[in-house]
Amino acid sequence: MAPIYANLLFSSLFPSRCISCDAICGDLIFCDFCNSTIRVSAHAAAGGVSSGFHYAAAIRNAMLRIKFTPCEQSGRSLLRYWQQHHSENFTAALHPQGISAVCFVPLHWRRRLTRGFDLSSLFARALGRALQLPVLDVLQCTRFDPPLSLALSKQDRLLRTQNRYRLTDSSFSPAEVLLVDDICTTGATLDSAAIPLLEHGIRVRKYALAQALIKEKSHDTI
Ligand SMILES: [Zn+2]
Repeated sequence: MAPIYANLLFSSLFPSRCISCDAICGDLIFCDFCNSTIRVSAHAAAGGVSSGFHYAAAIRNAMLRIKFTPCEQSGRSLLRYWQQHHSENFTAALHPQGISAVCFVPLHWRRRLTRGFDLSSLFARALGRALQLPVLDVLQCTRFDPPLSLALSKQDRLLRTQNRYRLTDSSFSPAEVLLVDDICTTGATLDSAAIPLLEHGIRVRKYALAQALIKEKSHDTI
């Protein structure tokens, strides 16, 4: 059977489902309705954090399903969607001159074991490929805290994330790194993970796959 007919047969037998609402959507990652609700972030965001998407609507639904189902395949589909929308103009928009490596905010090993994957780590590798930079797995989450509610204030989140991260390898010394996380709400987690890098004399640029608008109160936990 010719490959094109094999692909058509496979997609008719196993059609893709929208990673937000689970509707059948052919070869697409989001169905047309969910896709229409997605907002791409401005690259120069408030609070020193740039991001790919607004954490709202279909992106929020998809990320909650990916994290709490959990589903690595949907996580990889979401990263493919990011690549389709961002990687072409990403290099020019982020002005990555000077950045020599990508780091990521890691999950605690117990949470990673439960989920089976770490979306921030996968995202860092997608960014590393887009920027042609190495990915450094040098941060460790030292506490297994309960998920943070998005309803917490930045002050509360800073207290909850204080001293949560440490450097596992101090033998490297890039001048500046891109520190990435999957979701940014108040920025407290990214700030906390940046501290050991800053204390090591490394400049830090922050980037999140999706960023919440702070004025939108939510009771999500992430
Ligand atoms: Zn959908």
